[in-house]
Amino acid sequence: MLPYFKRAEDNSRGADAWHGVGGPLGVSDLRHVSPLSQCLIAAAVSAGLSHNTDFNGATQEGFGLYQVTQRNGARCSAASAYLAPARGRANLHVLTQALTTRVLLDGQSAVGVEMLRHGQRVRIEGTTVTLCGGALNSPQLLLLSGIGPAAALRAHGIALVQDLPGVGANLQDHLDICTLVESNSRDTYDRTHDLAVALRFLLTRRGIGTSNIAEAGGFARSRYASGAECDLQFHFVPALLDNHGRTRLPGRGYTLHACALHPRSRGWLTLVSADPTAPIRIHANYLSDAQGHDLRMLLEGVRMAREIFAQAPFAAVHGREIFPGADAQDESALTAFIRRKAETIYHPVGTCRMGNDEHAVVDAALRVHGIAGLRVVDAAVIPELPSGNTNAPTIMLAERAADLLLGRVPPKA
Ligand SMILES: Cc1cc2nc3c(=O)[nH]c(=O)nc-3n(C[C@H](O)[C@H](O)[C@H](O)COP(=O)(O)OP(=O)(O)OC[C@H]3O[C@@H](n4cnc5c(N)ncnc54)[C@H](O)[C@@H]3O)c2cc1C
Repeated sequence: MLPYFKRAEDNSRGADAWHGVGGPLGVSDLRHVSPLSQCLIAAAVSAGLSHNTDFNGATQEGFGLYQVTQRNGARCSAASAYLAPARGRANLHVLTQALTTRVLLDGQSAVGVEMLRHGQRVRIEGTTVTLCGGALNSPQLLLLSGIGPAAALRAHGIALVQDLPGVGANLQDHLDICTLVESNSRDTYDRTHDLAVALRFLLTRRGIGTSNIAEAGGFARSRYASGAECDLQFHFVPALLDNHGRTRLPGRGYTLHACALHPRSRGWLTLVSADPTAPIRIHANYLSDAQGHDLRMLLEGVRMAREIFAQAPFAAVHGREIFPGADAQDESALTAFIRRKAETIYHPVGTCRMGNDEHAVVDAALRVHGIAGLRVVDAAVIPELPSGNTNAPTIMLAERAADLLLGRVPPKA
């Protein structure tokens, strides 16, 4: 997979054994870093964890600053990296305001898609179909097309085309728990002047407007880690971040997210109805594994977050702990806190899992089992969560898919 990561990348630090240059996806160092993010790194080191200047290099373990998918201080999304440069091509036609409603099938072959656009039903025909609706919507589209678990399709009156019990199953996500602390530091981002930040960004491409906010963090092997792989990831935010940022807390402070990288809980998603405009039902099923592994990992994440915050580099700015809070000390109080407050960091994968067993949905070439001319190319096919964020792995997968579609030889390792 490394050659595809490298081919995608245009890293401002230059090329090396782990990184590429010249690819569509701009990757760079942050232009603006809060002194509190540097404080986090110093505190982690003081707690006995290592410093790492490149999580995507030879070693993942340690604390440091994240590199970001940016060009010239601005977000380099998949659309700006890949779509914008291709917009002028004669063989590319982008339809917006279109909801794909199902794959058109002729027997066991995909022959196009149907969509709703401005209230009209539109059919687009072709010889191959590539679904990339993401881990929640690609399985929905397969189900709506009669590809999925036979009983679930029957329940909604959808004619069965291919019985694939794995469609919508095996849902995995990174669950996150935040430790929030009040601070007297003026370096938090809680009370920034939004207009001034925006103006500075627009005029100079500098300042807080270029920050990904979760500037620093790290990867750790907890005391439960069995091998060399990290099992916890941390994102530090120099602001009070509660409820995905939807709840604005008074005052100033900072937040340390801890996330279990390899959850054992598995969820699933189902159709609510055969109406493609109806949302699906998501059973995330977090913290449900029989061994209690996922809960144990988040308990460990909170313990480590507290230990890092207790180090000398934070001493001058550290205030009252808001969450979990001083009262939450024993395991049962912390467990209740985690069950109440843990939240997704939006990394769903696995709902059209790649493999060759009876629960697999696509094969190693991303082709849907039993259906000719149909591929899924998105996070849905990732069989198990990667040890980190999911955007770059999904782009890597799309690079691989491009070779498969074009019949190109893979790049050299
Ligand atoms: C709020 C948020 C923050 C995130 N932050 C990070 C981060 O910091 N780092 C990181 O690595 N990852 C992050 N992720 C995860 C990352 O964005 C995903 O892993 C990645 O985008 C998955 O790519 P995908 O192609 O599988 O799906 P998506 O990027 O979701 O693309 C699917 C596309 O299909 C479209 N679509 C779906 N159904 C239909 C339909 N029926 N008809 C037409 N179009 C349809 C959707 O509108 C969407 O544009 C974040 C995700 C979210 C939501």
